[in-house]
Amino acid sequence: MTRGEAETARHIAVVIGGGIGGLASGVALARHGWDVTVVERATSLDPVGAGIVVAPNAVRSLDALGIGDATRDLAALQGEFGLRRPDGRWLVRGRAEGAESVFGDRTLMLHRAQLVGLLADALPTGALRLGTTATVTDPGTASRPARVTTTDGAGTTTEADADLVVAADGIGSATRTRWWPSAPAPVSGGSTAWRFVTPRVPGVVGSEIWGRGIVAGVMPLADGRVYVYVSVADAVGAPRGLDELRARLADWHDPVPALLASVDDATALRHELRHLPAPPASLVTGRVALVGDAAHAMLPNLGQGGCQALEDGVVLGARVRPDDDVAAALLRWSAERRPRVAQVMRLSARVSGPTLWTSPAATTLRDAGMRAVGRWTEALGARALRPVMSWQPPAD
Ligand SMILES: Cc1cc2nc3c(=O)[nH]c(=O)nc-3n(C[C@H](O)[C@H](O)[C@H](O)COP(=O)(O)OP(=O)(O)OC[C@H]3O[C@@H](n4cnc5c(N)ncnc54)[C@H](O)[C@@H]3O)c2cc1C
Repeated sequence: MTRGEAETARHIAVVIGGGIGGLASGVALARHGWDVTVVERATSLDPVGAGIVVAPNAVRSLDALGIGDATRDLAALQGEFGLRRPDGRWLVRGRAEGAESVFGDRTLMLHRAQLVGLLADALPTGALRLGTTATVTDPGTASRPARVTTTDGAGTTTEADADLVVAADGIGSATRTRWWPSAPAPVSGGSTAWRFVTPRVPGVVGSEIWGRGIVAGVMPLADGRVYVYVSVADAVGAPRGLDELRARLADWHDPVPALLASVDDATALRHELRHLPAPPASLVTGRVALVGDAAHAMLPNLGQGGCQALEDGVVLGARVRPDDDVAAALLRWSAERRPRVAQVMRLSARVSGPTLWTSPAATTLRDAGMRAVGRWTEALGARALRPVMSWQPPAD
């Protein structure tokens, strides 16, 4: 490498957090010439026990990151899907081909480990530092780089300049708490969610099942395993463990009880659902960009949290180039992304509302309404979701 090449290569971007948002940002920035380090405090990226639904807007983000086809090869394409009642009756039933014609791509379902693995493999060799915690000690300005302190597993602390910092440190973001002191803090979403991946169970049809304050999702994966999530509203009381959850859903239609019976308790994830009421007024402070859940953790009912994190990273790579005035380019990125993520957060919260209803009268009316409008529900749903799902990444 000549001296000139060495100089042009030194545009340092530090990404804090190796979740979907951090990895996507790292890949996008590296593809556009940044010298990227992704710092993750966990010693392994292995996410246990959960699948992920990747909507068409995120599939296009993965294309922009160069891993769209590799993801399609590993994923199950959504086929028949819909909303059901606990007794198995369909409220809304559709086929993914219909959604594909509206949104331009299919929804993909895969194990989180597969998505995270593909993103991590797309990073430049050596860019990922596991078992290391990073702290922004100075967010920098247009004329001064940011400062980041990292501490590795051996306790060695290093302080370094960065031309760009991406804070992808999740809903509990210490970066947001410190440098966006007036940003809204996380609040409860009013329910607790369980997630797990079962052993192979053939013939499962993808669906979401709405009960009274309980929602279960059943998503077949390409290899025959099934990703299952169940959320239980606080109003009906969160079960203390999986056995209590199994008992609550014992009379739900096949294969729900069988799927719950097959899960290895040690791999099930249980989380109280929390979200941010709104994104901060700006997603940028100095040279630091907030992405993913750190900026816009949303309720999972629309399955868009990870999808928006992928979009964040892709747009960041396209809009903030190494030779740009970084602080100014970041502000433009924030102006583009903030309205988008705020809109998706609002829609997620709106969809969540009826899933928390527990009164027999309200849920009976809700279900009757959905059944009565039948295919119209699908059409109305498609109309509401079109702006979310039809999103296109910026042209390179
Ligand atoms: C029940 C449920 C179901 C969901 N289903 C879907 C779905 O189907 N589709 C979808 O798109 N989204 C879904 N989501 C949302 C999605 O999981 C999140 O939006 C997404 O994982 C956020 O990614 P992230 O990278 O922003 O944050 P995180 O995944 O939280 O990653 C943050 C990372 O930062 C690391 N970190 C934190 N602080 C530091 C530090 N100081 N130094 C170094 N590392 C640090 C953490 O260890 C962590 O690995 C769901 C969420 C839930 C709760």
